[in-house]
Amino acid sequence: MGSYNDMTGDVVGNGIEIPAYDAGRAARRDEAVRAAVEQGLLGPGSPIVGLLDVTGIRESAAALRAAFDAVVAPGTPVLHAFAVKATPLVPVLRLLREEGIGAEVASPGELALARAAGVGPEATVLDSPAKTPAELREALALGIAVNADNPQELDRIDALMRSAASRSPLGIRVNPQVGGGSIGATSTATATSKFGVALRDEGAREWVVRAYQDRPWLTRLHAHTGSQGIPLSLLAQGVAAAYTLAEEINRRIGRRQIDTLDIGGGLPVNFASDATTPTYAQYARLLSEAVPGLFDGRYGLVTEFGRSLLAKHGTIVARVEYAKSAGGRPVAVTHAGVQVATRTVYAPGSWPLRIAAHDGKGRPKEGPAVVQDVAGPACFSGDLLAEGAALPLLEQGDFAAALDTGAYYFAHHYAYNSLARPGVYGFAPKDAGDGAGGIAFATVREPQSLDEIVAESGGAHASSLTTLRAPRSR
Ligand SMILES: *Cc1c(COP(=O)(O)O)cnc(C)c1O
Repeated sequence: MGSYNDMTGDVVGNGIEIPAYDAGRAARRDEAVRAAVEQGLLGPGSPIVGLLDVTGIRESAAALRAAFDAVVAPGTPVLHAFAVKATPLVPVLRLLREEGIGAEVASPGELALARAAGVGPEATVLDSPAKTPAELREALALGIAVNADNPQELDRIDALMRSAASRSPLGIRVNPQVGGGSIGATSTATATSKFGVALRDEGAREWVVRAYQDRPWLTRLHAHTGSQGIPLSLLAQGVAAAYTLAEEINRRIGRRQIDTLDIGGGLPVNFASDATTPTYAQYARLLSEAVPGLFDGRYGLVTEFGRSLLAKHGTIVARVEYAKSAGGRPVAVTHAGVQVATRTVYAPGSWPLRIAAHDGKGRPKEGPAVVQDVAGPACFSGDLLAEGAALPLLEQGDFAAALDTGAYYFAHHYAYNSLARPGVYGFAPKDAGDGAGGIAFATVREPQSLDEIVAESGGAHASSLTTLRAPRSR
């Protein structure tokens, strides 16, 4: 086993021994790519798909539950709310719900997805930084938990609470300002982050304490320190800051008004190999050491993990349409680029992806590693899934698989060049009953049709501009 680098979330060292759990996932993935080609999901006419490993998703959900079950006092209420933004797909939310996981939503759209998946109000948390009065009213009417981001939002909640009673558990999001990680764009606890009440600012702590003193219905406290690139130690510091504040508030009020801590998500994912590291168990143990008291049963807990639940269970597979050479470097032109891997294409230093080469039948490709570029279909030169990657030479008709893309990738389509959203399919081993083995697929999301692209691009309003009254001639 390689050693875990706390700063990058990467496993370092070569010849990493992959645990059985992770080796099983890699084998299932290879099998699924082959079956997708064999069953015609992938081919010349459908040159890109997203694949989701249902077995792996269930395993991760179980690992999350077990990790916290192992450290909390018996009977502690724990809600693991999946951050819907990581993989906003209704069947995924339904699968997670079946595995005992709720939903953290941050927009009317995400709330609608969670409701469509059958996630009830008791398992839903609303956290957006820009909630409108109408969204707040709906959330309070439904009884969904809400964390107020700032004093103005709390004013709006005050008005709603005066007008009608609500079952919603309510809290305030604080920014513990413990600092950022290696990726600025996903660090939410910097001094000037846009999220929450900046706890170390002049007068802010007193304001928060008074807000709770004045409102007996404020029973939760929320902090989310960041995503990918945040070292575990910094995540723990953010949780510790929230815990300390809750203790202070309850002490000063003289009763346990805050009964639940929402500790956010943000466990980093290892994109460098098939190893799952860090694990939920490691994080839960670290928290129990760093924040003694957090798990002793006095507080209910909410977590909001996103990427760590889904990333390693998704694969984008794209056909190599052409293989060429430029300036001495081989370039594989595939159908996966900026439209499905937006962060990687625009910020490759922060979001590198592993690419696996498969032959035209979907089998893992053998052969010496060749340094090559894996390009996407979009019309700008930076549309590269990987630059200078060393893998078996990709040839026309092969498939390039972008690994660990189950969160914040194919579910986050970017409509550059009007490229269609690819179909997304879940896979699982066929019922072993008949002994035949093999892989079964289920549709998670249909590929987008050309008619849909036209409709979403103003197709119904084709002559709206030409019939708009012309400016008066001078
Ligand atoms: C994005 C987000 C999460 C999930 O972060 P991951 O890195 O995907 O685990 C959780 N809580 C809040 C408030 C978020 O904005």
